[in-house]
Amino acid sequence: MSHIIHRSLRQVPPVAVSAKGIFIRDSEGNTYIDASGGAAVSSLGHGHPDVLAAMHRQIDHCAYAHTSFFTTEVAEALADKLVSKAPQGISQVYFVSGGSEAMETALKLARQYFVEAGEEQRTMFISRRQSYHGNTLGALAVGGNEWRRKPFAPLLMEVPRVSPCYEYRGRGEDQTVEEYTQALLDELEDAIVRTGPEKVIGFCAEPVVGATGGAIPPTPGYFRGVRKLCDQYGILFIADEVMCGMGRTGTMFAIEQDEVAPDLIAVAKGLGAGYQPIGAVLAQGAIVERLRHGSGSFLHGHTYIGHPVACAAALAVQQVIERDNLLAQVARRGSSLRRMLGEAFGNHPHVGDIRGRGLFMAIELVHDRPTRNPFPASRKLHAKIKAEAMMRSLMVYPMGGTIDGQRGDHVLIAPPFIASTGD
Ligand code: PLP
Repeated sequence: MSHIIHRSLRQVPPVAVSAKGIFIRDSEGNTYIDASGGAAVSSLGHGHPDVLAAMHRQIDHCAYAHTSFFTTEVAEALADKLVSKAPQGISQVYFVSGGSEAMETALKLARQYFVEAGEEQRTMFISRRQSYHGNTLGALAVGGNEWRRKPFAPLLMEVPRVSPCYEYRGRGEDQTVEEYTQALLDELEDAIVRTGPEKVIGFCAEPVVGATGGAIPPTPGYFRGVRKLCDQYGILFIADEVMCGMGRTGTMFAIEQDEVAPDLIAVAKGLGAGYQPIGAVLAQGAIVERLRHGSGSFLHGHTYIGHPVACAAALAVQQVIERDNLLAQVARRGSSLRRMLGEAFGNHPHVGDIRGRGLFMAIELVHDRPTRNPFPASRKLHAKIKAEAMMRSLMVYPMGGTIDGQRGDHVLIAPPFIASTGD
């Protein structure tokens, strides 16, 4: 019996013993193709020699230095690199150890930004029903993943939620894409006004929805509209790019493709690409300037922020992406993947939609294709798909949930950027 509290308390997963490129091997000698990058994490695949070498070098130099005493060259260099690629106005970075911490940090930074301006009454975030922002209490509160939230609901802050931008299920037959988009923006505006704009801190959304939706890109103009509303009502736009960011969609930040600069961006998974646990919050310079000229510090901190080995791994990942021109490769391979999924599943009676951006793709499963009726709610369905795929030496990431009373199930496919069509 295992002493670890595994994700399933009824079943111990296979023991991973080695991993190289797109493959992971278990202790029974089975080899799996990592077609989901874990959960959209391993963007460079496994065992990349340049990343391993950078980590070794950093361990030899300085494995750890607490950030209340020191900064490190490698953390500074990583922050410079991220800022150089970030949307307009983003000039500050706060490092953390993962995605939930990144969102938690973004929420607190946003709140302190208003507190420092004497706007203590701002206590509310608005988010979308179809969203996952992490498992810690703040991140869980803004997320819309009902089954994860349910047991902890009494501990969570109140968060008004609006409809997701989920064209496949949300757009009415008689609506154009523009009308659908405008209806969503009207609903957001309504939520801001009903909450009281003077009480709202920010609006949180994943630019391309990951775990709760399955690689759902926004409709054209949706995030431009969101940005406009946030500006109009003086609230912050917090983009959660924990899953869709760091090159996964073919641009460093998914939101670049929507031509919008958020106030805060949370990143994680692809930042360290699985080599080290690292996340970050990227902030508009003006947000941090207010704190600099106000209290002089951000009232937040963790022991492992800016961990030098994690920063070294993440910096090496970014350098490899740049050197090997992998963003262009993601865009190209993404088109091939979309085509191949279409050829394989386009006419499948239980596949309702194939969607995504870059190498962030999903197929939505339906019980009945013409009506789009989903399968009856059952988490067993996802476990079964995962198990069947693993029996066939394949890792994919099935998820699902209920949004606005409508169920949706999908299988996420997010292969490493280095995967070739011939692998
Ligand atoms: N935000 C998004 C969009 C995510 O997909 C996830 C994880 O899947 C998180 C936040 C939480 O990240 P972590 O699991 O690293 O805490």
